[in-house]
Amino acid sequence: MAGSAREIRLAARPEGWPTADTFELATVDVPAPRDGQVVVRNTVMSVDPYMRGRMNDVESYVPPFEVGTALDGAAIGEVVESRSDRYAVGDTVLHGLGWRDYAVLDAAHATRVDPAVAPVSAYLGILGMPGLTAYAGLVRAAELRDGDVVFVSGAAGAVGSAVGQFARLLGASRVVGSAGSPEKVRYATDELGFDAAFDYHAGPVAQQLREAAPDGIDVYFDNVGGDHLEAAIGAMHRHGRAAICGMISGYNETTPQPAPRNLARLIGWRLTLRGFLVRDHADLRGEFLDRAGRWLADGQLSYRETFVDGLEHAPDAFLGMMRGDNIGKMLVRL
Ligand code: NAP
Repeated sequence: MAGSAREIRLAARPEGWPTADTFELATVDVPAPRDGQVVVRNTVMSVDPYMRGRMNDVESYVPPFEVGTALDGAAIGEVVESRSDRYAVGDTVLHGLGWRDYAVLDAAHATRVDPAVAPVSAYLGILGMPGLTAYAGLVRAAELRDGDVVFVSGAAGAVGSAVGQFARLLGASRVVGSAGSPEKVRYATDELGFDAAFDYHAGPVAQQLREAAPDGIDVYFDNVGGDHLEAAIGAMHRHGRAAICGMISGYNETTPQPAPRNLARLIGWRLTLRGFLVRDHADLRGEFLDRAGRWLADGQLSYRETFVDGLEHAPDAFLGMMRGDNIGKMLVRL
């Protein structure tokens, strides 16, 4: 299927918050697929916080995006041309070439998704990378135990909303969350089943956490960093564990955030703070999909998605997600 298509490129590296000038919409020719490749018409793509880090020219666990070339990231689409035995025209696949209308890629780099289990967009959220992040963070990084009191920040987002529900399903005795608006707080308590939640804009995090978890916490799942991490360290029981998943409050800062002022508590309270990356836990994917698929099917797990329409609005979706416009997973429908 030769023809032209659109892609979003990195136009310039942002200093601090990205702006519209960070991105550029370009029209390109769709290359003809080689043997072993497929052409996928993308139908939905993900915008994720880690993409902000890739806009900086710094050494990290993934290479930076290059100025003048297309961004990439998880997307789902329909195979429209196939030169591989693995996929036929009409198959739905997950792959890593989002931020464009059409992706041409090796079939080996695509994964089939099952539309019978859930709408396919779920494979970018609750059944995808964010869901696995929540599961691996709880099970491996935090070593969740029966009866633990769990606190998660970013509780209404893609990862955080999964953390709260998985924690309960995996045996937590109390689940507490923080989020950025009264609506998100209600979502956490009324829809996701959190025992308590608070709006971190409404007062000091440490004080609100003390009220939400008066007897302290065993596990903190950190999506935010900054004052949230300091408050969680201050609330932890002896031998408490923190899964350090993300620190989004600092992603657009131009100077490093100060460290928590109470780190000495790690010693006396024998606390563990463990950073982790979901990519190191791909071996859990089968177990995770099996359990989460069953929880979804029997109504024990719920999720929401916030959609923005049109590839040309993908930068708005990304910026909106960084600002907190999303409830659940932020996605772009193409
Ligand atoms: P998300 O929570 O769906 O969306 C980002 C949310 O961050 C926004 O909705 C906003 O919600 C919140 N936020 C933005 N600025 C904030 C601030 N200054 N203080 C507190 N909250 C703020 O995103 P996600 O994909 O689920 O990712 C959540 C975290 O997990 C991120 O830190 C991300 O980097 C991390 N992550 C890590 C891994 C890993 O392998 N370690 C994998 C995936 C994601 P509010 O309205 O509540 O502020």
